[in-house]
Order: sequence, then structure tokens, then C-alpha cells
Amino acid sequence: MEGYRDYVLRAMVEDTLVTAYVASSMHLVEEARKLHGTSPVATAALGRALTLVGIMGVVLAENQRVSLQICCRGPLGGIFVQGNWKGEVRGYVSQPLVIVPPREDGKLNVEAAVGKGSQLIVVRDLGFGEPWVGSVEMPRGGIAYDLAYYFTLSEQLPTACSAGVYVGTQGEVLSAGGFIVHTPSGTDEGVVEQLEQNISQLQPVSLEFFAGKNPIDLLAELLRGLRYRVVGENALFYRCSCSRERARHMLSLLGRKEIKQLLQEEGRSEVRCVFCNRVYLFTKEELEALLTEIG
Ligand code: ZN
Repeated sequence: MEGYRDYVLRAMVEDTLVTAYVASSMHLVEEARKLHGTSPVATAALGRALTLVGIMGVVLAENQRVSLQICCRGPLGGIFVQGNWKGEVRGYVSQPLVIVPPREDGKLNVEAAVGKGSQLIVVRDLGFGEPWVGSVEMPRGGIAYDLAYYFTLSEQLPTACSAGVYVGTQGEVLSAGGFIVHTPSGTDEGVVEQLEQNISQLQPVSLEFFAGKNPIDLLAELLRGLRYRVVGENALFYRCSCSRERARHMLSLLGRKEIKQLLQEEGRSEVRCVFCNRVYLFTKEELEALLTEIG
């Protein structure tokens, strides 16, 4: 792709309602790791969530956004990720430094860090009215399978998902990517069987990308034996939409009492954005002006 580095490829299987999305996400996951200083397993968990939410975001209409929240039973604590129609994603985990023993095969144990039975919540903000909320208890904790389970159960849309992050010995992200395939009920059995067979023959996506493949190659493997066409592609970025204006608004929500207390105890206030760790400093004068404003 020219001009941007991570992207989602969108495709449809001909004569069906099957849609498939494949994303590369190494750069945005690496950016998240640098911003949050995440441990390898936290990088992998956050990276999987960012990748899948990136895909869920780009299929939305203008001004819509989607959030994925996981209340972990495991030591990672929580994951919160947002994506939007522009391909912007951002997110964080509650315990970025968490370390858990690796799996028996030596791989990062995301399932143990997140925890089986964790609550997975999807919030879709459609840009009008109340947001649409769905949730499931995670059967595994590795995120991709759990998200597929969510789609199938909560949105009645049979789905297969995969996401992976390959972390190097220095904690750096060497590859990352994922896919989502929706097979609405009523899809021809032969198509479903072909897809299942293709998916079972894939290597973990992080390894596919590490081997030098791109979303076009992976899509071809995913949809092998099926007639399909690529319907579009979207850039994916790690981008935070925070601003001084929004930080100020957050402060105002604390209310008079809290702001007065801040003034007395600190004489100023620092607001740190949880998504990008940017710090907005508000001076004594600014806090006083805010107090006057909220009356
Ligand atoms: Zn921010």
C-alpha cells in the first residue's frame, strides 16, 4: 500500500453474503507498545484487540465508532479499545506490565493473561440515539475466538476470527495481523465447508505475516477455491483523538468540590490521556476560570 503501512482488505465471496476482512497491523501495534510500554503478553493481547477492532471500525458508516471492552478475570485487568470508520484505533490495558508463564509450546499465554470467563463487551456508537451494546462471557480468553463467539451468539452472525502478534526478544513487534469472516446463516454448505478447510490449513496469522505475506496473500489462502472479489481497502492507524479541549471538559465533569480540592492541594492539575499518555497541564488560573465557568 502506498502512503500508509497497515491496512484492511475487504472482500465478498461471489453469489453469497459472505464477507471477509484481512488486516495487517504491525505498525499500529508497535506504536501502542511504545506508548504504553507493554510487556510482551500485554502487547499481544492489546494488539489482537486493536487489530480486530480496526476491522470492525472500517466497515462502519461515517461518524460511527465501535468499542471493545474486556473485563479480565486474569491479571491483565482490563482491555479497552476503540475504532472508527476512518481506520483510527486506540486502546490500553489496565496492567501493561503483566507477566504470565508462557504456554507449553513456548508462546505468549494471552489466554492466561486475559482469563477464560472474562466479560467481553461491544459498544457500537452509530452516531445517533443510544449506543448499541452486546456482551458475552469469553469461552477461551485469547480474544479472536471469543470475538467470533460474540458475533455468532450476540449478533446472530456466524463468524470466524483470528488475530496474532509476534513479539521479538526485545519486546518489539515483528508482525501482527488478523482476519474476520462473516458467514450469515443460509450460506451454502459447500462454501462454509471450504472456508473451514481453508482456515484449518492456515498458520497462525502472526507467522503468516512474519513470513512476508501481506493481506492480499492471506485473503487468497483464506478464500481458496471460492470466487471472490476485493471490494475495498482502508488504512489503519493508531491515532488518539484527545485534545486540550476534551481534557478540560473531563476536568469540568469532576464538579466544583473536586476542582476546589485540586486547587487547594495541588494548585494545578494534570490530566493524562489513558489512550496515548499525553499530559495536559492546567494552571491555577485555568482551574479558577473553569470554576467560574461551571458556576
Ligand atoms: Zn490521547
